[in-house]
Amino acid sequence: MLTLEEARRRLLARARVTGEEEVSLSSASGRVLADPRIVASLDVPPFANSAMDGYAVRAADTPGTLRIVGEVAAGSASLPEVSGGTAVRITTGAPLPPGADTVVPLEQAGESDGAVTVPLTAPGTYVRMAGSDTPAGTEVCLPRVLGPPAIAVLASLGLARARVRSRPRIAIVSTGDELMDPGLSLGPGQIYDSNAVALAAATSEAGGEPQSLGRVPDTREAVEEALRAGAGSDLIVTSGGVSVGQHDYVRGVLEDAGSLDFWRIAVQPGKPLAVGEIAGVTVIGLPGNPVSALVTFELFVRPMIRAMLGLAGDGRLRVQARPQEPIGKDPQRQAFLRVSVWHEAGETLARSSGGQGSAQLRPLAEANALLVVPEGEEAADPARTYEAIVFGELS
Ligand code: AMP
Ligand code: MG
Repeated sequence: MLTLEEARRRLLARARVTGEEEVSLSSASGRVLADPRIVASLDVPPFANSAMDGYAVRAADTPGTLRIVGEVAAGSASLPEVSGGTAVRITTGAPLPPGADTVVPLEQAGESDGAVTVPLTAPGTYVRMAGSDTPAGTEVCLPRVLGPPAIAVLASLGLARARVRSRPRIAIVSTGDELMDPGLSLGPGQIYDSNAVALAAATSEAGGEPQSLGRVPDTREAVEEALRAGAGSDLIVTSGGVSVGQHDYVRGVLEDAGSLDFWRIAVQPGKPLAVGEIAGVTVIGLPGNPVSALVTFELFVRPMIRAMLGLAGDGRLRVQARPQEPIGKDPQRQAFLRVSVWHEAGETLARSSGGQGSAQLRPLAEANALLVVPEGEEAADPARTYEAIVFGELS
């Protein structure tokens, strides 16, 4: 059995970075910038403007009572001149009129009979100078994954589109004669296919584009046909049929019709994981048990999709968490226990979110982290802390 690190290293060595495309900013959320460095082609803000609603004045005229000679609103193009002894009403974001060098907020001024009384004010007060956020020519280094602030920066620089990495296309196949689509009624011995939709959702969350190839029955021919059908994608992810059962064909098809790189890893859950290729496309055969499928997706497929996007690691926050009670595990394998973590009195605590069986899906849905407990330990020990990989919201 390979360790997680060794298996992941061998898998990630297969990643090829995807090409680039342009998207509009309105659909750029979560996309990965092809190049995070952007040179500002204009000053932001483009002109000196007021940070407050108030009066644009000359600092040298303060304190004093100044005659109001006009007003300037945000978006105004014609600007009244502020000469000695005068003031102009101004709104937030309006250009500073010529002659003025400072702004007195409404709250500090008193207006009556066409004049305003203002306190002593230093030059530049409540004035946002041109380029005070980003001067033209600055090399702005944005985060690779576009979130709302980075999208706002691009828009403020006048860009309508962003160059991003194409989403890797991930073909998803469920194997199993027992599987039925949700929404239809179950026959004897059948269960609903939860992996297909879960793996598609996890793919989208990781930045990939899921391409569902549906379910295939447990025959050698059907499995081979499905894997060949996925060869137009960037990666094929199967679930089930990868263990040692009589009807587990994924590994055999890889060996006969493509190649098998490795099989079996020393992690709990998820021991029977296979990696190989068919027609030049990498295949990750995930175990069928729903918890094993999603946990091994997290440990292998997510970093693989990110590597294809040019991103390192899994992008998850890690914290040191202390289990409140012992949580049992297989001493032969490194375990990824389903836990809820939360902060209390200056430390991060973890509690098992339910049964730790690899078919017990509900505790995974109720967990927000995986507690990483090393090989050799029989249980997570409440006397110490462990690394927790946080994948959900903190409660
Ligand atoms: P397998 O790896 O094919 O032996 O499957 C292991 C267990 O996972 C069996 O109990 C299967 O019924 C279950 N299983 C396999 N595929 C799925 C799936 N797509 N959705 C839900 N359960 C599955
Ligand atoms: Mg099966």
